[in-house]
Amino acid sequence: MNNAFSSIASAPIAPLHTQGTQEVQETQAAGSAIALYARPSPDFAAKLGEAVRTLQRAAAQGPVVQANSLGAEDMVITDLINRHALAVGVFVLDTGALHAETLALLAQLKAQQARHPHAPLTVYRPAAQAVAAFVQREGQDAMYRSIALRKACCAMRKLEPLARALAGQKGWITGLRREQSGARADVALIDETEVPSKGLTKFNPLAGWSWGDVWHYIASHGVPTNVLHDRFYPSIGCAPCTRPIAVGEDFRAGRWWWEDEQAKECGLHVKQGEAKA
Ligand code: SF4
Repeated sequence: MNNAFSSIASAPIAPLHTQGTQEVQETQAAGSAIALYARPSPDFAAKLGEAVRTLQRAAAQGPVVQANSLGAEDMVITDLINRHALAVGVFVLDTGALHAETLALLAQLKAQQARHPHAPLTVYRPAAQAVAAFVQREGQDAMYRSIALRKACCAMRKLEPLARALAGQKGWITGLRREQSGARADVALIDETEVPSKGLTKFNPLAGWSWGDVWHYIASHGVPTNVLHDRFYPSIGCAPCTRPIAVGEDFRAGRWWWEDEQAKECGLHVKQGEAKA
């Protein structure tokens, strides 16, 4: 850990914006995500077994880490890691721009993982000086002005900390699902395409799960989740870049909603040679 990072590691980072949360409270009645979504597929038991086997294979390959974005899928995966006592570290990227509700779940996750020493939680944050210089130069709302500035913000707040989180690892576990977007329709359970370039195998244990499967697992195992899911935020990222979705909108319509569909990735899951963010 460098000095810049260690100096901010314990500092509270306030969310940049809270506008989305407040608006939705005023315009939409909060519902229960479990009541709305928990609908298991007919082959849910087989999918669950496949997910567990994928996680066991990841743990056996070691060292591997789970990237927990504090979204519903990732909370399910951490629960599976805990229940099967797998030796897999868990990390969270606290971008400094998360909703207060997401930070509340992070605090809950910290307390939970303290009871599972086989799966310790590490929080990575962006370099404080880089964030301060960017905000001073471009302003807090730079991401709305151009895709280049949005990508620069994602690179600073997400990709640089991600590189630190993955340093020395042989693999990482993500909550990617094929159903999430067209760009993710081909997600493999075990993706080895980045082994030659990065030395990393990506494990996607929920690749074949539906949104109903995810919430069925949450309901039947008491998994903690972000309360924003009850307010029509299916996919939750940074506060300035996430809004609730309306009936009929795509799962990820609330992420970077002002951008063209093709640009909607932050770079965490973009492979070398691909043109996306
Ligand atoms: S999602 Fe938005 S606030 Fe978060 S790092 Fe990317 S541009 Fe910045």
